[in-house]
Amino acid sequence: MGFNPKAILDYRDVRHEQLPHVVRFSGGRSSALMALRLAQEGALHYDRGDIVLFANTTAEHPGTYEFARTVCNKIETQFGIPCLWYEGCAVEVATRTGYTRSRTFRLVLRREASDGDDPKKPGYRSRGEAFEEMASWTRLPSRWRRMCTTELKVRPGHDLVAEWLYEGPGPARQGHHRDVSLAPADVVAARYRGTLDRDDRETRLRVACAEPWARDEQDWQDFTSIDLKRSKVGPRGSADIWGRFGGAQQFVSVLGLRADEPERVKTAMWRSLIAEGAAGTHCRDRIQPPGELIYCPLSDLDITDQDVRSFWADQQYDLNIPTGAGNCVYCFLKGPAALARLAAQIDASDEWGNGRAEATPVDIRWWSRLEETYGRPSTTKEGRIGMFHDTNYGIILNQATDAKKLNGTGSESNGIELGVPCSCTD
Ligand code: SF4
Repeated sequence: MGFNPKAILDYRDVRHEQLPHVVRFSGGRSSALMALRLAQEGALHYDRGDIVLFANTTAEHPGTYEFARTVCNKIETQFGIPCLWYEGCAVEVATRTGYTRSRTFRLVLRREASDGDDPKKPGYRSRGEAFEEMASWTRLPSRWRRMCTTELKVRPGHDLVAEWLYEGPGPARQGHHRDVSLAPADVVAARYRGTLDRDDRETRLRVACAEPWARDEQDWQDFTSIDLKRSKVGPRGSADIWGRFGGAQQFVSVLGLRADEPERVKTAMWRSLIAEGAAGTHCRDRIQPPGELIYCPLSDLDITDQDVRSFWADQQYDLNIPTGAGNCVYCFLKGPAALARLAAQIDASDEWGNGRAEATPVDIRWWSRLEETYGRPSTTKEGRIGMFHDTNYGIILNQATDAKKLNGTGSESNGIELGVPCSCTD
């Protein structure tokens, strides 16, 4: 593939080399390859404050968690770079007009959550909990309103980076100390920005408020095997990556976008360069901190999907998921046709068959239930408006079942093309 160690990160400004680097690992093959090669080629340095981050939407395939764990363990043990997993979550905070819910992140261990988990050191969740909490609190995402990326990955990731760069012992506690939720029903309804009947409002409130409304203080050290050599006590806080109080604290953000994804690279770079020139406090792009300097080394090195596949074909381990099940398993961006083929394939699979995974996002029925529960009531047609305009997950499931009856198995579903590239890392 011709990696040139000196050029793996081609800095557009020599000063960027001195800044902490944050590697965004999505759990997929491309960003895994990128993170491993950056570490291997000596482009990441523990002393500079570099980290690798994995955002768990709680709706990923079990094989993705397994792969992400293997990659992160390898990066830590062989190259000494800390890898942190996090999930988006909501906390209840006081405002001038009362309590509301505000989104942030919590660190999670690289093992599955269980009932007895210490709230300061929880395992990761995989039954769609964070995704459903987000949907209950706001609206369902769709191709036109892709706020799941923002709410579950981008904003929580920025919060994490800001606290990491502060160099305290870990994220500070957030949320009130009362033992009941204080977010009132009308606040939930106001967030929805639409007409909600009483049942809908109560369902939403019940689901949103069943999740913890505070994040305990956490220690970075509990989530990585690397000895961070940070004090266990000391102030906790956030670095000013948004430039709210002057010049923004800068960091390099490394994305795993490839050369065959030029539109995504263009969007990411365009946003970054605008923010870099936005003089901090005047930056109007609310999801792009002016301190974040984006690099896309796979694209710069002309690495394509084919190169990534060749690389993993030679490795002793690989991402073991059905074709097309990357990112959130039934992400609406994949498009109805690809989702129907994926449903037929997963349904036909022994390993991830319906009987075993019914209540989780590996099963398309989980997504259908989400639409039924949180979709907008429609005035013009039966049912609710969910994540698509002209179809829904129930219809897609029926198509998958019909296709399976016709073809016997879901094996024809290899080579699923995404309707729209899932641009979670953009
Ligand atoms: S993969 Fe799809 S569903 Fe999941 S966060 Fe990204 S856009 Fe949303």
